[in-house]
Amino acid sequence: MSNEKKSLGLYTKKRDFTKTSEPPVTKKTRSKKNLLFVVQKHQASQLHYDFRLEVDGVLKSWAVPKGLSGNPAQKRLAVQTEDHPLAYAYFEGTIAQGNYGAGVVMVWDIGTYTVLQKDTKKRCSLLDALHDGQIEIFLKGKKLYGAYVLVRLQRLSSDTNWLLIKMRDEYAKTAKRMNNRSVLSGKTLKQIEHDAKKKG
Ligand code: MN
Repeated sequence: MSNEKKSLGLYTKKRDFTKTSEPPVTKKTRSKKNLLFVVQKHQASQLHYDFRLEVDGVLKSWAVPKGLSGNPAQKRLAVQTEDHPLAYAYFEGTIAQGNYGAGVVMVWDIGTYTVLQKDTKKRCSLLDALHDGQIEIFLKGKKLYGAYVLVRLQRLSSDTNWLLIKMRDEYAKTAKRMNNRSVLSGKTLKQIEHDAKKKG
């Protein structure tokens, strides 16, 4: 069994695909050219943002309660969650009550990223950087732009608590309210929910 399949086992286990509209795991596992990143705003029992990075054919994922900041002084807690399939990057809609993560999901930002660490240019060594607990990346999204670092709080690779921090560069901002609509549909969370209800 490939690593990709194994790492998505938990994703599949947590969901009943006859009851949720989220994408099941398929064979298509990597983008052709650029590595993908996505931020999904998720109104579940607690509002949070899901930050996902394409690494080795899957989306490595973190739940970020306060969302990403463009301000280097604002360190954001990011709790690592199960890997998601690449197709999840374009998932926007509602997850029905009674299912894992029930609530509304919006594609808040999407784009590509590059790795800044010189020794981790190859795809496979991204996994090593993750294992070592530090990854420096450059995001090219519609709302988020510039260098970010993800640092694990503990040395143990099983620890799920990370900090997600804007690095100091020309794109750092001290304060800016970011647009709160979907970059795919232009909808707000309320509109996504409303439209999903209409469809039934
Ligand atoms: Mn979530």
